Amino acid sequence: MRDKYRSFLRFCIVGGCAAAVHYGIYYLLLMVSAPVNAAYISGYLISFVGNFFATSYFTFSSRPTWARFAGFAGSHALNFLLHIVLLNLFLWMGIHKLVAPVMVMAVAMLVQYTVLYMVYHFPARRIEGKVMLSFDAEEFDVPREHGVEWDALTEGMNVSRYGVNRILDCMQECGVHATFFCTTNFAEHAPEVMDRILREGHEVASHGCDHWQPLPVHVIQSKQVLEQQTGQTVYGYRQPRMFPVDLQELKRQGYTYNASLNPAFIPGRYMHLNMPRTSFVEEGVLQIPASVSPWLRIPMFWLSLHNFPLWLYKALCRRIIRHDGYFNTYFHPWEFYPLSEHPEFKLPFIIRNHSGQAMYDRLKAVITDLNSRGAVFCTYREYAQSIE
Ligand SMILES: [Zn+2]
Repeated sequence: MRDKYRSFLRFCIVGGCAAAVHYGIYYLLLMVSAPVNAAYISGYLISFVGNFFATSYFTFSSRPTWARFAGFAGSHALNFLLHIVLLNLFLWMGIHKLVAPVMVMAVAMLVQYTVLYMVYHFPARRIEGKVMLSFDAEEFDVPREHGVEWDALTEGMNVSRYGVNRILDCMQECGVHATFFCTTNFAEHAPEVMDRILREGHEVASHGCDHWQPLPVHVIQSKQVLEQQTGQTVYGYRQPRMFPVDLQELKRQGYTYNASLNPAFIPGRYMHLNMPRTSFVEEGVLQIPASVSPWLRIPMFWLSLHNFPLWLYKALCRRIIRHDGYFNTYFHPWEFYPLSEHPEFKLPFIIRNHSGQAMYDRLKAVITDLNSRGAVFCTYREYAQSIE
């Protein structure tokens, strides 16, 4: 609220200065007998350029660029028309040429304020549905996929520990709960982070034992280790790298849901186009595929949030919730680590793009948007229970 008040104050100061400059130039030009409209437009343009720089540096604290200038000019084009129409209207009504501009500016500012007020206060269209966020708390082994000699259990674990804590910060800031699919490697190397996950009310599910080399026996081993460490029943499983997993074995070991499917087309990684997009029961286990958009099956997993324009990602989330009644996706702790500062990891641009703080901000923006529209955040376990 204080932030809103402050930006309103800045809006008024910048607008007031712009109006003063505008009127000053108009007045001076009239003194040297310039035509009224020419004087008014000159004043408008000069104060407009000044306003642009002031808005960039002062109101939004960002560097002015030509692209921003074009956007700024575009958004002010209607405003300019309003000024010229009003000025000529008032002059035609017989109002004195030194008074008319003051009236024009007052009306134009009122209109501008009303438009801004509507943009910021118009109630967002509500959505009804659930959102399940998940995070794969695993040892960071991606550099090995890119040919780097890398010790995932020491160097990799530092990255993951940092990342899970950042994710927990974000969940805490937004007041939502999520599901953490943990490898036993992570659980055993970062017990203090596991404690925080539990303490802050999130669900712990299984992501196997070793992320680099998943073995069939890890399905049962991971459940035993995680249950022993957390003192809670583990209901869900996600296979490392979303590899296929034996559903009968999951059922036998007492798992109730499996979140190892990505029904998108991602060349070289997943090609499950014939799979259902939404949850279904198979071999007595609830399958919860990662959300993709209806029809085109645009993937909404971690890489998409790094690389799509944020507005598009948010719009697709809302579309999926309206269509399916729920949305779920998955991220990794290392995405919240400043990967761009580490060329030695040899990660491709699409992974480094918007990593670290930028990823934190993006995730927070998505959660805030969905939350403010009425979507309900829950864990995978809670979702599975709700449709039992
Ligand atoms: Zn994983």
